[in-house]
Amino acid sequence: MAYDRNNIFAKILRGDIPCKKVFESEHALAFHDINPQAPVHFMLIPKRHIASLAEATLEDAAVLGRMLALTGRLAREQGSPGGFRTIVNTGHIGRQDVMHLHIHVLGGPDPFGRMLPRN
Ligand code: 5GP
Repeated sequence: MAYDRNNIFAKILRGDIPCKKVFESEHALAFHDINPQAPVHFMLIPKRHIASLAEATLEDAAVLGRMLALTGRLAREQGSPGGFRTIVNTGHIGRQDVMHLHIHVLGGPDPFGRMLPRN
């Protein structure tokens, strides 16, 4: 699937629309979700144009690995010291709305939401 340069997160990366920034590096940006589903809810996105996890290749491995390795530090800094939930919705089957790869990080001071189903 071709990357759409007009998706919302591409506009945030260009600075065309504002965000509440949590973190920025050469390779990644993190910002609060506009419609939080938990007391702590931010998104970590690569600056590289990757539409979804389904489009990621081994060339993206270093950046994606660095992003995952950052989640714990950022979650603690944002007020989620005891763990968190990461979600990467992918494609229409995964109900991905914004077609720029993003890692949701959800947490808070206390456990939140209902238990995920186990199988
Ligand atoms: P998805 O369903 O693609 O995994 O999640 C997209 C997320 O982006 C949703 O949680 C939604 O609330 C968030 N979102 C959509 N538009 C904006 C926006 O303009 N700014 C921010 N910060 N988040 C947004």
